[in-house]
Amino acid sequence: MTQDYVTPEYGKSGFNCPHCGAFAHQEWRLSVDSHEDSTGTGTYSRLHQLRASICARCGNFALWKKDQLFYPPMYVAPLPTADMPEDAKEDYEEARSIFSQSSRGAAALLRLTIQKLVVVLGESGDNLNGSIGNLVKKGLRIDIQKALDVVRVVGNNAVHPGVLDVKDNPDMALRLFKLTNLIVEDMITKPKEVAEIYETLPEGAKDAITKRDNKD
Ligand SMILES: [Zn+2]
Repeated sequence: MTQDYVTPEYGKSGFNCPHCGAFAHQEWRLSVDSHEDSTGTGTYSRLHQLRASICARCGNFALWKKDQLFYPPMYVAPLPTADMPEDAKEDYEEARSIFSQSSRGAAALLRLTIQKLVVVLGESGDNLNGSIGNLVKKGLRIDIQKALDVVRVVGNNAVHPGVLDVKDNPDMALRLFKLTNLIVEDMITKPKEVAEIYETLPEGAKDAITKRDNKD
């Protein structure tokens, strides 16, 4: 198991560094040296709000204005949605933990996440393309099929170089996290919620519905 990802936060003594990605102790410093504001313009007091956190691991600094990180630009991947199956969640969390270092690695792990999701949905998962095709035959909604195919194609390291490379495109990688959560919500959470509510119907009503639907 990889260590849980700790989001950089103002004033914290340790978090996953936005540069090297490792969990590391952070030393906090004022980013400008103290001096008298001789100009009387208030420039110094504005600068004074800048603080730097310095990573004990790689030595690089991050800049904060008040409590907001503004350098380097930070991409925080969303947490897994509540109904993500355990098996898939492991890969999803690992994708989150390496996201700031490698968009491409995260995308490849998200592809593995959906490979495990199609297994939960009754497919073998060995051939992801074929598994998605089978789900389509069983009535998979077109937008969910598209979401699965985006993660499948972008997460494939064998994709022709330069075409769909997420290496320098964290925005694209970030979208894959959102799509993966959306797939789980649509294919697992929603049917579960509907089934729970349906179960509260009186037996007589459920029997009548079953009879109706068995009639050709
Ligand atoms: Zn670092």
